Amino acid sequence: MFILELEPVFNNEGAEQSFEYLCDMSDYNYNGGYPFENPVKVEGIVINSTDIVTVKAKACFTLCLSCDRCAGEFVRDFTVPVDHTLVTHVEDETNDELIVIDSYRYDIDPLVKEDIILSLPTKVLCKDGCLGICAQCGKNLNAGPCECKKATDPRWDALSMFDPAEN
Ligand SMILES: [Zn+2]
Ligand SMILES: [Zn+2]
Repeated sequence: MFILELEPVFNNEGAEQSFEYLCDMSDYNYNGGYPFENPVKVEGIVINSTDIVTVKAKACFTLCLSCDRCAGEFVRDFTVPVDHTLVTHVEDETNDELIVIDSYRYDIDPLVKEDIILSLPTKVLCKDGCLGICAQCGKNLNAGPCECKKATDPRWDALSMFDPAEN
């Protein structure tokens, strides 16, 4: 929970209010683990510009993840924008860009968490072009080729036919 007192911003054209807090997502389960080991740093500003109130923030965090291809563990930094227009009522119900606040004492934490969760990739790789693990021996191929690779590669079979030692 992080409450913003928005009445002064809504009632004063040109007003700005900056904010900063730590968002705890340590209990959020993602990809079978709990990667939010440290709190998310949220920094932003609420601005009233010509009576349109917008929040512009960013959420920065580091996740401890395991690769979907090789299962290797790695950490990665993320920065997620949290940019919305806040309104106290809405005429056009179909515009979901607008966030309707029901009180000037507005808890922004659920909105931040929702933006973070929507931004998380469904598949994570430790690096572009991760080689994965060998289906036969289970070796992590990023660390180098395994022995069974040679025996199953048809190019090696073709070469061994011309191996003089076999004739
Ligand atoms: Zn990997
Ligand atoms: Zn292998």
